Amino acid sequence: MPAPREAAIENRLWSLDEAMPRSELRALQARRLRETVERAARVPHYRDALLKAGVTPGDIRSPGDVRRLPFTTKEDLRANYPFGMLAVPRSDLARVHCSSGTTGRPTVVGYTAEDLETWANLCARFLVAGGLKPEHMVHVAFGYGLFTGGFGLHYGIEKVGASVVPASSGNTERQIMLIRDFQSDALICTPSYALNIAEVAREGGLDPRQLSLKIGHFGAEPWTEEMRNEIEMQMGLYAFNNYGLSEVMGPGISGECFRRDGMHVQEDHFLVECLDPETLEPVSPGSNGELVITNLTKQAMPVLRYRTRDICALDDSPCACGRTGIRMGRIFGRTDDMLIIRGVNVFPSQVEEALLKVEGAAPHYMIEVDRPGALDEMTVRVEMKAAQFSDMISQVQALRERIQRAIYGITGLHANVELVKPQTLERFTGKARHVNDKRKDKRRP
Ligand code: ADP
Ligand code: ZN
Repeated sequence: MPAPREAAIENRLWSLDEAMPRSELRALQARRLRETVERAARVPHYRDALLKAGVTPGDIRSPGDVRRLPFTTKEDLRANYPFGMLAVPRSDLARVHCSSGTTGRPTVVGYTAEDLETWANLCARFLVAGGLKPEHMVHVAFGYGLFTGGFGLHYGIEKVGASVVPASSGNTERQIMLIRDFQSDALICTPSYALNIAEVAREGGLDPRQLSLKIGHFGAEPWTEEMRNEIEMQMGLYAFNNYGLSEVMGPGISGECFRRDGMHVQEDHFLVECLDPETLEPVSPGSNGELVITNLTKQAMPVLRYRTRDICALDDSPCACGRTGIRMGRIFGRTDDMLIIRGVNVFPSQVEEALLKVEGAAPHYMIEVDRPGALDEMTVRVEMKAAQFSDMISQVQALRERIQRAIYGITGLHANVELVKPQTLERFTGKARHVNDKRKDKRRP
């Protein structure tokens, strides 16, 4: 994990449960895990899977017993589309959301009124950990709708007592006008949209650092520490990372405290494991693995050992903020996003990290992979920074080589680097897309 970059904000807890002694937390997890298995056993899919695994709720005595439970995958949720995974009658649902379908057909998730209350409190926890106060005005530029980002954060902000500007996504000029006129204190969106907002503001003659924004809570897509530096420099705010996925709940599974050295997992509500995606055995402490999450309190649609396909590392060392929840590092990438290029595993986040280390490269890039002959080729299209563009024409070759070296240093691969003019690559209002894989057989080494 990178060195902590503490934000100058007050260290406040939303709930004392966030600082629960570990021994108490383990006992609570054991109890809640047993209750969750009881609830899940009402779902035909889990009834069969538990029977097959030979486990009954009574067998669950400690959090470690989670390893006896069956896994759940996105395919399981799709096979039970739309409401086959509900553990409550459909009439008990208070709301329905869907995953954004980044990797295929969306999956449906349901919430009872109690689930919505829990969710709002969990979002309130990470928002407060990242400096949100009741007197703040918060601009939410996450899409409102089936996506969990907009509504999830919305009710968390209200819970804190701050005021929400439910701007939703799109129409960036209007977003900037609202942030400026309302003097909003906090911004909520994807990290790539934050950059987009900064850029459009500058184009309109407004330095985004002059806006009143003090903090940003960003998530919903992988981003790097280099991207955080870039956003903070461009916008003059403290940027915090938060993580979640709709299948488990939505945002609120984990978030950063003022130390910004990993995201505290809200372990009284989620049991996390970090497993080798091939062997499904736990990785050694601190190593990267697939995050597998089990709900501990969800009523409507609890999932057991959900395979998130997100790769990260867990850190159980104590944190100076007083929260006792284990910390997860940045999501390195999803197993679905991992490219195998000439037999080498590459995540888009590694390319992002490399190119943002190079002066003159803008944080806008597109990775194209193709196999024109027998061998894979990776081309990284990178925008040049507007400020440098005019006086850098003569140095284009040198800049290209620096980026190539940086990518080689991190991935071990030689990439073709194409420098393109400022403003030429696509901009995103939600989750960014950075990869275009044109190969027919993407898995062939
Ligand atoms: P979809 O899987 O269709 O994108 P969601 O909208 O539920 O559905 O998005 C959840 C996914 O978004 C996570 O599984 C993860 O890959 C990504 N994600 C969410 N928050 C973060 C974050 N802070 N850093 C990296 N990736 C994130
Ligand atoms: Zn902390």
